[in-house]
Amino acid sequence: MSLKQRLIDLIRVEGPLPLSTFMQIALHDSSEGYYATRPGITRDFITAPEISPLFGELIGLWIVHEWRAMGAPSLFQLIEIGPGRAVMMQDALRVAARVGGDEFLRAAKLGLIEASPALRAVQSDALHAYTPQFFDTLSAVPDQPMLLVANEYLDCLPVRQFHRDGEIWRECVIGLGANDALAFGLAADEARAPPGTAMTGACVEIQPALDLVIADLAPRKAPFRALFLDYGSDEAAPADTLRAYCKGAQVSPLDAPGETDLTADVDFARLARLAVQAGLDVAGPLPQGLFLLGLGAQARLQQMIKANPENADLIFAAAQRLIDPADMGARFKAICLSSVNLAEPAGF
Ligand code: SAH
Repeated sequence: MSLKQRLIDLIRVEGPLPLSTFMQIALHDSSEGYYATRPGITRDFITAPEISPLFGELIGLWIVHEWRAMGAPSLFQLIEIGPGRAVMMQDALRVAARVGGDEFLRAAKLGLIEASPALRAVQSDALHAYTPQFFDTLSAVPDQPMLLVANEYLDCLPVRQFHRDGEIWRECVIGLGANDALAFGLAADEARAPPGTAMTGACVEIQPALDLVIADLAPRKAPFRALFLDYGSDEAAPADTLRAYCKGAQVSPLDAPGETDLTADVDFARLARLAVQAGLDVAGPLPQGLFLLGLGAQARLQQMIKANPENADLIFAAAQRLIDPADMGARFKAICLSSVNLAEPAGF
């Protein structure tokens, strides 16, 4: 039975599902979930490390720089959440090994946090030279010095959506419409006002798991930095940004659950607020283009073109996609959450 049919049956018995529950099932159901069974990175959507190796290479430079800024500990956890096809970490480690040498390679213990069994297999293969350890959650990572990176992970975290209905808020749910088809609706009961939201907006989205990310980072005693790159605004809270992608085209999130990627904008302002409240240091959010330029994108690009002049146009165009404000350079942001008493991170 298709996941869509199972969801319809579930709603018939249990009633409408909160949007976040629907998203969790559609992405992670063990037998039909999108990431669990048919992740379509490069088929359904494309990410920065898949566009140009410049991205992962600059992340590699950042990692070595921050490792040194921490005093080059002889053992540290190098963690990536949601590594996808592991392209970014491969590019990063190739450069980090060259710049940081054997001392860096001996010190770095590679750990991956990945929900999808299908992608764990790909990552394990691609990174076998670095013997990665898999963790189910961030809280399972040993409390040792840590550098964490994650690209396009936060946007997959399930969203709850609240809509204004006169004087009250109602939560967005997935129920059954005409002919028992999946349909968006609003819960019958009044919802509590979403925390920290202005009462003026007509719709607001919240990712409850952002609170969990902070709750997992805050109690750590050893020094750490966590660098997140993703799309979203650093000003207004997101309204209705949930969307689905299949083969590069935007489709309805309800069309084919489990067969399409579901994603929503990240509320960087809220993430920064939560981090500050928890006593962490925050750098950014900064537009991705500025972050990459700050890490030396231009110089690295010149080297890449010099080494491969016959492909200069392609190499340049790919890098430009990542940096140009009209493309990914401004819509994507970088934010770095750190334990206190570390120097400003590179690139901010
Ligand atoms: N970072 C990669 C892949 C981005 S796609 C890139 O830039 O190309 C999102 C990644 O996050 C996938 O690897 C997906 O399986 C993973 N993911 C999604 N939700 C997750 C969760 N709750 N816990 C761990 N990993 C998750």
